[in-house]
Amino acid sequence: MSTLITDSNTITHFTAVFGSTDLAIDLGPRLSCIEVEALADLLRALGEPAIADTWIQEHARDDEVGDAHYLGDPLEYLVPVDPMEDLQCDNCQ
Ligand SMILES: [Zn+2]
Repeated sequence: MSTLITDSNTITHFTAVFGSTDLAIDLGPRLSCIEVEALADLLRALGEPAIADTWIQEHARDDEVGDAHYLGDPLEYLVPVDPMEDLQCDNCQ
């Protein structure tokens, strides 16, 4: 099933095209979890771990609860802060 890649120009061209952050931003959310993992694995195997992580990161923005890369709701981690507590003033409360 696999073929031996002997043309380094093909690899260079692939990593140049799919090494684009703009492409990862545009296309990452449209890929399924399996598709983006396959692409990221290939990029890592070709020595491009940073852009592989970018693909996963951009894809994860659109993942929903139950998806592999779901990041969670950032608002659920916000803790309300009472600014008067920072002043440690008993008379202010
Ligand atoms: Zn995903």
